Amino acid sequence: MSAAEELKADVEDAIADDEPAAAISPRIDAAVASGAKDLRIGLMGGTFDPIHYGHLIAAEQAREQFDLDFVIFLPAGNPSFKQDKKVSDGEDRYEMARIATQDNRAFDVSRIEIDREGVTYTYDTICELRDKLPGTTEVYFITGADAIVSLPKWYKADELAKIAHFAACTRPGYDYTQFKEAQDADIGLQFEVEFFDVPALAISSTDLRKRVSEGKSIAYMTPPQVIRFIAKRGLYMDGEI
Ligand code: NAP
Repeated sequence: MSAAEELKADVEDAIADDEPAAAISPRIDAAVASGAKDLRIGLMGGTFDPIHYGHLIAAEQAREQFDLDFVIFLPAGNPSFKQDKKVSDGEDRYEMARIATQDNRAFDVSRIEIDREGVTYTYDTICELRDKLPGTTEVYFITGADAIVSLPKWYKADELAKIAHFAACTRPGYDYTQFKEAQDADIGLQFEVEFFDVPALAISSTDLRKRVSEGKSIAYMTPPQVIRFIAKRGLYMDGEI
């Protein structure tokens, strides 16, 4: 058994003991409690409205590419750049992320952002997580390239640049000059961002919401348990995408 596999087996045993409410997420809490050192953790930031196979494949690619022990999905509570847009309830988005990731021992979902009051800022999230993680933990914040383009304008961007690595997944045909131009416009604040292509990101949450509202199939775009949850909760039926 490799060291990573041993860590994951210990974590599963600890979770099976039915731990109290998670500080970060069940698997990370168990890894920290078991004394794991030098963890490499990916934080998959997004609204996940709804989660789909593009997100799951991107997380798996990031796990492999950056040699991550765990990827924690962080459904945003009250996304800062979406104050004028309708976003589904945080509990529904959390639950869809949870049921979509539960079969992968390297994936987990944290309530940290949906439980925090006020606007969700990535800086606050990473600080809160870093306080609960061993100081030697390497943190990679992963999200879509379209969101990363605005990184220099995020809350406390200058501090943010110092506390995590950043990785951006791109849809096929992504124009990298967008990011270069955004960086050049904010002289003095250069983020190191690693881009990686994820062909499956041709799937998008916007398209899924639209398809549901039009009564079209979303089979094979997101796991069957998410499709059942959307139907049971009647999400995205109102046509407001
Ligand atoms: P968004 O505008 O909903 O998404 C922008 C694009 O990126 C969409 O094409 C989206 O596709 C894609 N995307 C989003 N998350 C992704 C992921 N994890 N993997 C792959 N593609 C992804 O972006 P958002 O959800 O509001 O923000 C993304 C993350 O950045 C969140 O964690 C948010 O909190 C953070 N953020 C922080 C600040 C701040 O601190 N001030 C500001 C902006 C964003 P789909 O719609 O298919 O997901």
